[in-house]
Formats: sequence, C-alpha cells, structure tokens
Amino acid sequence: FSANNLAPLDASKVTVTLTKSPKPIPPVEELVFGQQMTDHMLVATFDPAHGWSAPEIKPYGPLSLDPASSCFQYCPNVFEGMKAYLGPDGEPRLFRPELNMARMQRSAARVALPPFSPSALLALIKRMVLLERRWIPRARGCALYIRPTIIGTRPALGVSASDHALLYIILSPMGPYFRTGPKPISLLGVCDAVRAWPGGTGGYKLGLNYAPGFEPQKRAAQKGYMQVLWLFKEGEGRGLEGLKVTEAGAMNFFVVVKRADGDLDVITPPLDGTILPGLTRDSCLALVRAHTPSTRALPALPPATRVHAHERTLTVADLVRWYAEGRLLEAFGVGTAVVVVPVGRIGYEVEVAGKEEKEVRDVLLPEYEGGYGPVARALWERVVEIQE
Ligand code: PMP
Repeated sequence: FSANNLAPLDASKVTVTLTKSPKPIPPVEELVFGQQMTDHMLVATFDPAHGWSAPEIKPYGPLSLDPASSCFQYCPNVFEGMKAYLGPDGEPRLFRPELNMARMQRSAARVALPPFSPSALLALIKRMVLLERRWIPRARGCALYIRPTIIGTRPALGVSASDHALLYIILSPMGPYFRTGPKPISLLGVCDAVRAWPGGTGGYKLGLNYAPGFEPQKRAAQKGYMQVLWLFKEGEGRGLEGLKVTEAGAMNFFVVVKRADGDLDVITPPLDGTILPGLTRDSCLALVRAHTPSTRALPALPPATRVHAHERTLTVADLVRWYAEGRLLEAFGVGTAVVVVPVGRIGYEVEVAGKEEKEVRDVLLPEYEGGYGPVARALWERVVEIQE
C-alpha cells in the first residue's frame, strides 16, 4: 500500500450522514431473520489508483453498480455474520469479533479481493453498532445481526481478479430462533451434490459456496427434512463407511456419543478444508475441553458428567452404528445465527437390491424435554450467557 501510495481502510476518516426519517422498531415477535434492516449502512470503495475511500455512514438504501461489475459474473464476494448483544449494563457488546475479521481477511485473499485492515473494519463495525444501538433487541437470545460484505466491482467482463471493490456493512435485528419453543430439526444426508471438497473453498466464507446448496435444500424439503447434512463421498464402493459428514445446512455439526466407561465423547469433523471454521464451533470445543466435574465450565451439565472433545472424521456408518448400539445421545448444529440447535432425525439413502430408487432410512436421536439434550443445552446456555 505505502509503496503504491494507496490509502488504507481508515476508520478515523468516516463521515456520517444521518437519516431524516428513522424507522419504527418492529416488536421482537415480528422480526424475521435478515428481513428488517436498520436505518443506516456503511460503504467504502477501493480502486487501484487511490486505495480505500473514506468510509461513509449514510441512510440505508440501494447501491448503484456498473452492470459489468465482476461481483455479478465471477462472484468475488465475501461476507461475515456476527452479532451485537446488550450486556446487563445496557452496553452493546460483540463476541470474539477479531475471529470474524481474521476469517474475512482470509476469505478476501482467497478470491483476490484487495486487502484491508481488520482492526479498521472492526472499528467501523463498532461505530455502526453504537449508532444503531436502539435496534438491539433486549430479550434473551435476541441480538443485532451484523453483515459486513466485500464485493468485487471491477467494471469489465475479462475473467480476472477484481482490482475494484465495495465494502459495506448492514445490520438487522434478530428475534428468537424458535418462535414456539425449541424443536429439534431434521437433516437429510446428501452426497450427490457436494458443498465442499478437498482443495475447494468450503473453508472460506464466500458467497459462491451457498447458491449451489439451494437446489439440494429444496429436494431435502420435498422429502420432509428441514436442512441438508452435507456429505463427502471418499472412495467408491465403500458404502456408508465412505460417506464423510461435513456440515449441516449453514452450521457446523456435532454429535454426542456415550462411551463404555459412561463418559461422553463430543465429536465434530476436523478443519480439513471442507468445513467452515465456525466461531461457535471453536467456542463449543473450548468449553467442552475446559469442562471437568470440578471446573464446571459448562454449569448446566449434570454433576459428575465427563465430556471429551474430538475433532475427527465422522461417517454416516459411524452414526448408524452408534444409533444401533444405543450410544448416539445427541446431534446438534452450531452457528452464529442459531447458536446451538438440536437435531432429532437424520435421513440417509441406501441402495436396495432389486429397487431402482434408493431408500431413505432414519437415524433417530433420543427425545429430550424442552428439545435440547444435556450437552446441547449446556453449550447453548453458556455461550449465550457469555455473549450477553
Ligand atoms: N458453516 C457454514 C457453511 C456457515 O455459513 C456458518 C455460518 N457462518 C457456519 C458453519 C457457522 O459459523 P459461525 O459459528 O462462525 O457462525
């Protein structure tokens, strides 16, 4: 940047134009995830002659872009999902935001978008949250969702890296994930459409990872499942042993398995490039690792519960075997939006001799009062407690 005399992203240069018509804040019951936006947005642009422009906070509204912009054609687009919470003192707080900034920096580099200073972006996010603090819902489990985004805006059709970019931050108040009380979700294991593969982009938060998931998601819904359990088939002819479990919908996936000695194994697939390194995943692993019957890092776990965290390959064959042995106690998805959501049923397809269509069979998880199993509940409660 300095060698080329390009301006870095600079939070101290931000200009603010306030809206003249602030919107009424919808009641928490009327909030639908990601549909209501706050009054303002932040925008900064990058061009190869000047670097980053002075960031502008202005009333929320449409963008004007050249139709040849590379974001519409080749998808050099990255984003983050994070939340602001109100603490007991009424002050807004972010949860481990440096991790979102670092992930966004890695994602931007992966699609050759211009670099930015993570600390400058974080300062801009804080500025936006303070400006929009009246939008942060007060109820437990509610928050202000923050969506920082960078899109490539090189105004030309040639297939090459975007040397122009637009950075924006928009904010959306979030109500509770479950409106009518917690209910476990159902997942359908899918392996004919693949979300991510070794050497691919699944480990980055890129817009291009999501559109190919919409059609399989529709098919899963037609078969009566709420989300897709993304599988990766390793090697031919290995049956369920060759089907690696990666993620659930847009969440990281965990199972809890009872061991012969009565302790609990808490297992999630390793970060092998096919898994998004989720912040919630990281927080859950850290809490499980910190918990012993004496440290009680997870206070809601029944006393004397011993839990062991594992990042290891998980196959559909593992799930089916543990289910048959009565050892599969819990499955759950984790992510910023939901924090922790229990899974009640996992469908998987098997070939049946003499039949052309594959048959769907289910792995069923035990039912728990209130929807959450003990580990999922303890993680949900502790993470939300820290966040708020
Ligand atoms: N996997 C995918 C594919 C996601 O989009 C998300 C949401 N960011 C997650 C996992 C969970 O990540 P995090 O806990 O950082 O929200």
